[in-house]
Amino acid sequence: MRAVDIIVKKRDKQELTRQEIEFFVNGYTRGEIPDYQAAAFAMAVVLNSMTLREITDLTLAMAFSGEILDLSHVAPIVVDKHSTGGVGDKTTLVVEPIVAACGLPVAKMSGRGLGFTGGTLDKMESIPGFRTDLTKSEFLEQLHTVGLVLTGQTGDLAPADGKLYALRDVTGTVQSIPLIASSIMSKKIASGAQAIVLDVKAGSGAFLKTVEGARVLADTMVWIAKLSERNAIALLSDMNQPLGCAVGNALEVKESIQTLRGAGPEDFRKHCLVIATHMLVLGGLASQEDAGRQMAERALKEGRAWECFRALVRAQGGDVGYIDEPERLPAAPLMSDLKARQSAYLSEIDARIVGESVVLLGGGRSKKGDPIDHSVGIVLHHKVGDWVEAGEPVCTIYANQEASLAEARLGLGQALAYKDTPVDPLPLFYDVVRWTDASEISDSSLVG
Ligand code: URA
Repeated sequence: MRAVDIIVKKRDKQELTRQEIEFFVNGYTRGEIPDYQAAAFAMAVVLNSMTLREITDLTLAMAFSGEILDLSHVAPIVVDKHSTGGVGDKTTLVVEPIVAACGLPVAKMSGRGLGFTGGTLDKMESIPGFRTDLTKSEFLEQLHTVGLVLTGQTGDLAPADGKLYALRDVTGTVQSIPLIASSIMSKKIASGAQAIVLDVKAGSGAFLKTVEGARVLADTMVWIAKLSERNAIALLSDMNQPLGCAVGNALEVKESIQTLRGAGPEDFRKHCLVIATHMLVLGGLASQEDAGRQMAERALKEGRAWECFRALVRAQGGDVGYIDEPERLPAAPLMSDLKARQSAYLSEIDARIVGESVVLLGGGRSKKGDPIDHSVGIVLHHKVGDWVEAGEPVCTIYANQEASLAEARLGLGQALAYKDTPVDPLPLFYDVVRWTDASEISDSSLVG
């Protein structure tokens, strides 16, 4: 077999065999197939797509390109969650302690923020001392003793995806449903998940702008799970406005703490409870959604989820004094309100612009490896659909420099729109995609 023949075959819109996909992925992982051929292959997939069978083979080949974690000695069913990324999406910080407090062990490997979307590791590192670089043995030990662990990728998981994703980032080949779906699912499978709750975002602050696009990605990932003998459910959620009110690392940790202590914004609390409910059902702890919901609500109300979060922070070297008194977390000294320019209904808070403004303030990265400022960010005081009075603060910007504050103010002005007539609030979720819904697409159909 030759790599060039596989590229030509995909260029000519033909379906690749499992052997060809494995040959390509294994050769690339070992360094026998160079980056330029892998880039040509990725571009051929972007242009000509893949069938569900090909995507599943690609997923499994990437998952098995390295180590596969076996967590079966910790829990009979290990449930993971994955969000496709958004602005103000701090769900992991609240959902994982809720689920762990209900008795389902949670082992989560998270990522860093890139571009206008934030990353869980960056948020957690706002807490002084919190380590996100656990070794594999520390990871397994903590899962056993605390029942909850939240770290960066440990070990040699899905190295083929690591290489290919970095290459896609610089070759214009990120935007492809077969490549995104196989990239996400390969990491989930390699990290030992048997059941996965996927939070697939749609809107201005998401990878996919439309619900239709998000649905294709959701269908594809649910199919991959089925074909690789895992269980998955996907929730299509809104990302046209930020989730909750806080955007920016330490600010999001503070909002998560408020939520875990029984307060926090209503939309964010509801969002977390829905995700936790599905994790509890998929993990076999709750027989139905109603029961799962009640378990999750109780864990939150009785403070058990908050205690789990404290245990997590302590176990990973974080100073719990900072989360017990969140006003001690990093806070930028310059504050400026953006005020409503008219009395009207808020009709838009563009999540992408809000996310980009936080990057501008220093709270995100323009390129991999950039340092970030945990203290800066934006807090919204209103959501789409709210009535605001002229001159009332719509959001507050927290900055460390006058220049970036002025720039963020200018950008954010463009994020807000108003209407004189009532505006419906945005939904939290658009739909739930289960295997039975996704089964409408046959396993040979092209996804794209
Ligand atoms: N997240 C991933 O892990 N991979 C992609 O390709 C896109 C988003």
